[in-house]
Amino acid sequence: MKLLQLLPIGDLPAGLLTGLAPAMANTFRIPCEVLSCSLDPAFAFHVERQQYHSSEIIRRIQDHVRPDTWRLLGVTMVDLYIPILTFVFGEAQIGGPCAVVSGHRLRQEFYGLPGDQDLFATRLQKEAVHELGHTLELTHCDDYSCAMAPSHAVEWIDLKESALCRSCAEQALGAPESLVYPFR
Ligand SMILES: [Zn+2]
Ligand SMILES: [Zn+2]
Repeated sequence: MKLLQLLPIGDLPAGLLTGLAPAMANTFRIPCEVLSCSLDPAFAFHVERQQYHSSEIIRRIQDHVRPDTWRLLGVTMVDLYIPILTFVFGEAQIGGPCAVVSGHRLRQEFYGLPGDQDLFATRLQKEAVHELGHTLELTHCDDYSCAMAPSHAVEWIDLKESALCRSCAEQALGAPESLVYPFR
């Protein structure tokens, strides 16, 4: 049986991945486990940017892919970037198996606002679905409420659902029964 695996990258808030795993399992209808190992992201830190290069992290987490890996999602709180952008919420290998998502800019505190744990957890869930969607060869969706809608700011994330629209869900897998259809 293949598994969706969550890999902690650097220090994470307690309970973050154990909270995320059931939501991912439910969305993708596949067992989701939190890996007991973790990855130190220091190798991907670039001092001139004071950020972590997400593509380098993706390359490294491929080492954690096992024969039973369906998809491997790295989760981190460090600030990610790719050279052409000031930051990214995450990055994925189109077609899989690896993706990474960062909670760094999903916290209200990042914007000088009071913390909101529920909002943070919801945003992380949406971005996790989004990046995993890319590993399933999904591109960006025109439906602003679909998890595959592009979002370059948290305000856009907040407009989305954590689910895929029916079109994306049907396209994502050759076996559509393995995905929940969010009939809304
Ligand atoms: Zn995207
Ligand atoms: Zn969609």
